[in-house]
Amino acid sequence: MAAKRMNSKKRYELLTRNMGWETTYQSMDEVFPYDKFEGIKIKDWDKWEDPFRLTVDAYWKFQAEKDKKLYAIIDSFAQNNGQMNISDARYVNALKLFIQGVTPLEYYAHRHYAHLGRHFRGEGTRVACQMQSIDELRHAQTQIHTLSHYNKYFDGLHDPFHMFDRVWYLSVPKSYFEDAMTAGPFEFITSVSFSFEYILTNLLFVPFMSGAAYNGDQATVTFGFSAQSDESRHMTLGLEVIKFMVEQHEDNLPIVQGWIDKHFWRAYRVLALVSAMQDYMLPNSPMSWKEAWDVYFVENIGALFDDLSRYGLRMPKYHEVATAESEHLSHQVWLTLYNYSHAAGMQTWVPDDKKLDWLSEKYPNTFDKHYRPRFEMFRQMEADGQRHFSPGLPQLCQVCQVPMAFTEVVAGDAMKISRRVSTYKEDRFYTCSDGCRDVFEGNPAKYAQAWLPVHQIFQGNCGGAELADVAKWCHLQPGDGGEHVGSPDQDRWKKWRGEDTVKPTVMAAE
Ligand code: FE
Ligand code: ZN
Repeated sequence: MAAKRMNSKKRYELLTRNMGWETTYQSMDEVFPYDKFEGIKIKDWDKWEDPFRLTVDAYWKFQAEKDKKLYAIIDSFAQNNGQMNISDARYVNALKLFIQGVTPLEYYAHRHYAHLGRHFRGEGTRVACQMQSIDELRHAQTQIHTLSHYNKYFDGLHDPFHMFDRVWYLSVPKSYFEDAMTAGPFEFITSVSFSFEYILTNLLFVPFMSGAAYNGDQATVTFGFSAQSDESRHMTLGLEVIKFMVEQHEDNLPIVQGWIDKHFWRAYRVLALVSAMQDYMLPNSPMSWKEAWDVYFVENIGALFDDLSRYGLRMPKYHEVATAESEHLSHQVWLTLYNYSHAAGMQTWVPDDKKLDWLSEKYPNTFDKHYRPRFEMFRQMEADGQRHFSPGLPQLCQVCQVPMAFTEVVAGDAMKISRRVSTYKEDRFYTCSDGCRDVFEGNPAKYAQAWLPVHQIFQGNCGGAELADVAKWCHLQPGDGGEHVGSPDQDRWKKWRGEDTVKPTVMAAE
């Protein structure tokens, strides 16, 4: 008689359980020094439900298939000069932001899940983290390989990892992720696997990948899908880890809720950059930031927390602020970037008429009232030869590191800058919101040390006092950022398309 087939859960348990052992030469606490100090109490690591249930050989086979498809598409994209079929050269700025600000996070995730794959006591948990670590390295690699094609034809894509460590707006994603990496393992996994990957991942990937589809960038769509299919496993891990912690001990609940609150807010502030990309950088936007927020956060995450309420968990603190801000966020961030892009690795511009009308339609309550007149003024200034860049440096929020440009929308004053002040060791620290203030005051000793680009420039740590010195130190080259109109990117584009007054002599002969 044939042996009865085990179900996949049972089979996978046999693969991952009892692979470890109780150490004897050293105490378990010394071998696993990190998984207790945060206060999370685990009674039985074997209660962990494996979220992936994928063996290594099946994993390699599966990923190799995806890579084969991706690299075939990248090849044909390159051979057919795919860069000429995108909607417009402005679109490439979304890719600059992606490779400068998101790809380095993939690599961070790779490193830190590997760290967790060593340091959790439970074998099932370690295996899950190790698998995710491999995924994240692949994401970083496929993104670099895909976008390297654009680097041949456009500025701003030549040194993203160097820029990530130095350029001001990139300290927004960098500081969020480093906050998580410098916490304990349970806080990191709550931050990245749950608050980021479960709650907010659609708001990152949908704008970029549907954005790519709407703007003729098949190569980016393909790496997006290739990463997104791993993402569903990562989301499962995020949910599993939350449930595991709260089921293990009642003392864990308030700690976990605190982390959900904190990292929701921090990750949401990172997405402020994505909102501007989505509404302004994409010549053709599939949906507005507000529409995406309503579907992927208000509806989907609302339903998720209805479900999680039986564990005693509630919606992240200040979620209603984020929802109120959804009518303002992208406009405030784009206006800020517009003012400072001369010191950035991506370009900005005043939206064209088609885009202004689209924004008026998508934001009937706010755009015409508060933002459209400003863009029309900037357009007039440009026509008069007065394209404006702010000569000074902005004040940054001590926590999220976004320039202080958010306003008091909840209090009903959309024109008043939102600013909170905290005192720590007789110094004053400024934050942009109640959310960031709470994070600061939850651990002032940590955030008082934040590496704020503006402060560092003033202290002389960034190559010099002049814009050119700082740009050089950041490996920014002329044309990477600044105004798109009249940029080398735009000139090249016009030549390819025959839109230039001077007929091109060579068509991208490379
Ligand atoms: Fe990833
Ligand atoms: Zn902030």
